[in-house]
Amino acid sequence: MSFDSLGLRADLLRAVASQRYGRPTPIQAQAIPEILAGHDLLAGAQTGTGKTAAFVLPVLNLLAEQGHPQRHPRALILTPTRELAAQVGERVHAYGIHLPLRSAIIFGGVGMQPQVDKLQRGVDILIATPGRLLDHATRRTVDLSRVEILVLDEADRMLDMGFIHDIKRVLRLIPERRQNLLFSATYSDEIRRLADGLLKHPKTVEVARRNTPIAAVSQSAHPVDRSRKPDLLAHLIHREGWEQVLVFTRTKHGANKLAEKLTRDGITAAAIHGNKSQSARTRALDEFKRGLVRALVATDIAARGLDIANLPQVVNFELPNVAEDYVHRIGRTGRAGAVGSALSLVSHDERGLLKGIERLLRREIPMTPVIGFEPSANPPADQHEDDDRSRVRTDFTQRQRSAGRGDRMGAGQAARPGSQGGRRAAPARGR
Ligand code: AMP
Repeated sequence: MSFDSLGLRADLLRAVASQRYGRPTPIQAQAIPEILAGHDLLAGAQTGTGKTAAFVLPVLNLLAEQGHPQRHPRALILTPTRELAAQVGERVHAYGIHLPLRSAIIFGGVGMQPQVDKLQRGVDILIATPGRLLDHATRRTVDLSRVEILVLDEADRMLDMGFIHDIKRVLRLIPERRQNLLFSATYSDEIRRLADGLLKHPKTVEVARRNTPIAAVSQSAHPVDRSRKPDLLAHLIHREGWEQVLVFTRTKHGANKLAEKLTRDGITAAAIHGNKSQSARTRALDEFKRGLVRALVATDIAARGLDIANLPQVVNFELPNVAEDYVHRIGRTGRAGAVGSALSLVSHDERGLLKGIERLLRREIPMTPVIGFEPSANPPADQHEDDDRSRVRTDFTQRQRSAGRGDRMGAGQAARPGSQGGRRAAPARGR
C-alpha cells in the first residue's frame, strides 16, 4: 500500500513526499479512502498512529476539490488542548503547503485580536479548542454556518476534560448536513453516546488496540523511597547520559519543584503544565525539541498529544492514578518504529498502582533497585502521606470523576477485574 493508491490529489502527495513518510500507517490506509468518499467516520486510534494525517489529508483534499476558497470555515477541527490544536494546525499547514486553502488556529490563553484579524481575512479550516471557539461565536467574530466537515480529535479526552457541553453548543452553531469524523483513543459509553448522536451511518476503523503501540517500548521500574526520587532521577540522567527525557509528575507543583531541582543539579530542565502561559509552554516544548532543554517535566494533561518525534526516554517520576494514563505517557516514546524506553520510579505506596498498570498491559514490568537508592525496609512516613494530596485532587478531579464511572475502554476492556481506576493505591504486597 502506498500513498499514491489512496485517491489523494497530486499536490497533497507532493507535500506528503516531502515529509519522507514511507507508507501510509494502518489508520491512514483505512480512514483516508472512507473520508474521501464522504462517509462519517468513527476512528479508534491514539497519538503516534499517524491519526492526524489520517483526517487532515482527506479533509484538505475534499476542500480543495470544491474549488475557490471562501470567507467562512468549511472544516472545523476541535481538539481538547492548545498544544494539540497547535500541532494539528502545523500539520494542516505542512500538508496543505501547495493548496490555496487558509487555516487558523484558535485557542485560549493568548490574545483574541490576532485571531479575530485572521478570521476576518477568511479561513477555510479552523482548528480550535472548544472554549475559545465559543468565545468567538458569542462575539460573532466567527461564523460557523458554512461548516461542512466536523472533526473531533481525541474526543475521549475532550469528554474527560468536561467539554461535552461546549461540544453540544458548537454542534448547535454548525449546519446539520455535514460530514462528521470522530477520533478517540478509547471507547467509553460516553463516547458511544456521543458517536450515536453525531455520526450518520459511520464507517468504523480501529487500529492500535490499547497495548499494541507499546510493544516497541522497553519498560522497567526502580523501587525507591519517595523522598529520594529527585536524587535518583538526577543520578540516572547523569549516569545514562540521557539528552532528551520526558518526565511525568502528578502535580503542577511537583513538576515545578522537580524542574528546579534538576536545574540546580546541572541538568537543563523546564516544566510544562496548565498553569504556565501558552507562550511559556510553547517555548519549553520548542527548546526541548531543539535539544536546549534536557529534561521536560510535564503533567499528564499538558503532555497529552505532544508530538515529539523519536523521543528515546520517558520517566514516570510518579505513577499516574489512572492506569490507562500510563499507556498514554509511554506512547510518547517508541513511535513510528523507533525503539523507546519507559522507566518508572515506584515508591512503596505506588506498588498497587503498578499492579493495576501490569493488569491493564497484561505483562509484568521488571523492577530492580539502583545501588545506593534501595528503598528502606520500613517505608518512611512520607510515603503514606501525600504532601501534595490537595493538589493531586485539583489536577485529577475530572479524571477521577470519569475513571470512577469505570466506563473507559482501557480499564473496562482490558483490566476490568480489579482495575485501579482513579482510586488510591491498595496496600503493597511483596512482588
Ligand atoms: P500522530 O499519531 O498523528 O500524532 O502522528 C505521529 C507521528 O507520526 C507524527 O510525527 C507524524 O509526522 C508521523 N507520521 C504520520 N504519518 C506517518 C507515516 N505514514 N509514516 C511515518 N511517520 C508518520
